[in-house]
Amino acid sequence: MIAKVEPLTPARALRGPFDYLVPSRMSGVDIGSMLVVPFGRRRMLGVVVDLAEVSEVPADRLLEPLAALERDVPRELLRLGLEVAAEYCSTPARGLALVLPPGTGRGGRPGVTPRRELVAHLTDAGRRALGGEERLGSRQRAVLGGLSGGPAAAAAAARDAGGGHATLRTLERRGLVRLETLERRRRPSLAAVGARAEGPARLIPAQEAALAAIVARMDGPATSDRRLLLHGVTGSGKTEVYLRAVAAALERGRSAIVLVPEIALTPQTAGRFHDRFGDSVALLHSRLGAGERYDEWVRLRRGQARVCVGPRSAIFAPLSDIGLIVVDEEHDPSYKQESDPRYDARWVADRRAEQAGAVLVAGTATPRPESYRALRRLTLPERVDGRGLPPVELVGMVGAAGALHPRTREALEQVRDRGEKAIVLLNRRGWSNFLTCRSCARVWGCPQCDVSLVLHRSAGRLACHHCGHSEPAPAACPDCGSLSVARHGVGTERLEDELEAILDPLPVVRLDGDSTGGRTGVGELLRRFDAAPAGVLVGTQMVAKGHDFPAVTLGVVLDADATLRFPDFRSEERTFAMVAQLAGRSGRGAGGGRVIVQALDPGARSLGYAARHDADGFLTGELERRQALGYPPFGYLIRVVCSSREAGPEVVAARAVVDSVAGRSPGWGSVLGPAPLFRLKGRERAQLVVKASARSPAVAAVRDAVEAVSGDRAHRGVAFSVDVDPQ
Ligand code: ADP
Ligand code: ZN
Ligand code: ZN
Repeated sequence: MIAKVEPLTPARALRGPFDYLVPSRMSGVDIGSMLVVPFGRRRMLGVVVDLAEVSEVPADRLLEPLAALERDVPRELLRLGLEVAAEYCSTPARGLALVLPPGTGRGGRPGVTPRRELVAHLTDAGRRALGGEERLGSRQRAVLGGLSGGPAAAAAAARDAGGGHATLRTLERRGLVRLETLERRRRPSLAAVGARAEGPARLIPAQEAALAAIVARMDGPATSDRRLLLHGVTGSGKTEVYLRAVAAALERGRSAIVLVPEIALTPQTAGRFHDRFGDSVALLHSRLGAGERYDEWVRLRRGQARVCVGPRSAIFAPLSDIGLIVVDEEHDPSYKQESDPRYDARWVADRRAEQAGAVLVAGTATPRPESYRALRRLTLPERVDGRGLPPVELVGMVGAAGALHPRTREALEQVRDRGEKAIVLLNRRGWSNFLTCRSCARVWGCPQCDVSLVLHRSAGRLACHHCGHSEPAPAACPDCGSLSVARHGVGTERLEDELEAILDPLPVVRLDGDSTGGRTGVGELLRRFDAAPAGVLVGTQMVAKGHDFPAVTLGVVLDADATLRFPDFRSEERTFAMVAQLAGRSGRGAGGGRVIVQALDPGARSLGYAARHDADGFLTGELERRQALGYPPFGYLIRVVCSSREAGPEVVAARAVVDSVAGRSPGWGSVLGPAPLFRLKGRERAQLVVKASARSPAVAAVRDAVEAVSGDRAHRGVAFSVDVDPQ
């Protein structure tokens, strides 16, 4: 038998599959098997993507695999991984890397193995021996006595009885004890132990209707469209609907995947699934230890866990017979992977649901225009508790002195005086955005990127937010020696400082990429804010993610139209979502709530709709605008970035890609560019954007064009990155 093997290599140029002759002693080899194969002078790990009777390689040149691993990739996932690779212009190896068992390691030696433990059981003979007839040493008797209450870990049993391993082995030889190797699960810390919380006794009518629609599709004919958008305002009880839909899937003997934006930021959501379903829930996310992750994966693979909760990569969970896939907060940008393969978990979810015949539920208060148009809509128009959404006030900042508008300051003082809680969002880390010299106008920029450095005052450093470069904050200008350095703009660090002054003595908790180091950073800060009777949570977008803090009575967004000043067709959508989501955090309790939005242009369209909580109005207008411009969902975008160390080659290469794509595009679209991008991480960059009315021919054309140009020696030294559906 011939195995067609895709080698797992990061190299773009090396692409299989390659044929290997499977010897009869490796009879278990099948599609999905993982093999160690000889490759040139190296040995490599590969995955069998197909089997064949004959090979085109001459028999005397066919090699045999060196070994077959004990782990494999489920067939359905193998197909999905290859499909994602093709759809997002990546390589088969990188697509397969998404679906491999965790901790597979390199070169065939697994990085993670199951945790095994030797367990001792008392046999019937052992029980009789304890009864008296047989001669036993005192240690032997103690060991047997210790086991009479039930099996125990061998090491502990021997130790507790003052005996050693030899004592156990002797008892085993005499048939008085049975030793058995068992796998022991490494349990993630978030996993509750078998808890079962019931949830509210009854759903409100809108929830009931949404759940009924989901279940009807679960039971409906295979041909029907099973994709749903659960459009529910913040606090409308969406999570409760997911929980019941998951229960319905389990009752039908099927499994479920629940995608959440980021476990660390949404521990409440993941926790609720655990509380409801206990150990049938497996968590898969990057903060797990390697062993925990492996064990969770295996539990899913074996069907011991039937619900997987996790961020975007959880869409590749090894579950079979999936009945439901939930994408919670479907507008969240974290569903797009920003490194190759640049897949969109929402696209993968759609594909996987279709293949499995599962119902897809994308839920959010701020749907993407794509989902709003493509999916059948279920709506939860009101908060469960009957409380209205908080009033939103837009205030203009032109001419305002300082970071806070007088109205905002007043509202914060009121929070202080009444001992309430507020959340303040400013989507910019650090103390101030950039520094200039007051004498010679020097600007501190990154040596690797064409951007200015951000001051982080408590760290005493300037940092680049694009490449990680950092240097000590200057005491004087290195060019002219002036001691007068001006700090421009306000970031969360400085805002925290200002808020502390206003809110004293209430605590101010800052939540951003700098304040959340370590494994439990975010959860710890959120708990601290939750536990405080009053105070302020200040931070970047992180503060607006699905948190449920009933005591918050004020929400503030600073510089809300900053995103609108970037030339990106998604800025309106982003701005709307940011303001609407933050507004959703306010007024969840008996105290009611309000929201203040500061902007340079408070008349901006997206802000107006967000202030009126009018998602439908915003989306209707946004879809019209997108249609007129041919943007998604009325067209598809593919971005190609070429980069090189020296200026020049990247533009030449980008132009070659433009020409090559243009030559392959009969009527389905246009190519824009090449246009220069700012230097990043020491690389000069140029990009082109393909705008197409048909997706697959466009993807294929770009893939072929990039392959042709990157394979041309004239463009050596240029790196190519392709992004389908860029964010
Ligand atoms: P969303 O996900 O839409 O923000 P949640 O599902 O988190 O909303 O619900 C908000 C709060 O309301 C939660 O504390 C939840 O337990 C509660 N809740 C949900 N459904 C009901 C219901 N039918 N009756 C009473 N409380 C409910
Ligand atoms: Zn100077
Ligand atoms: Zn940089």
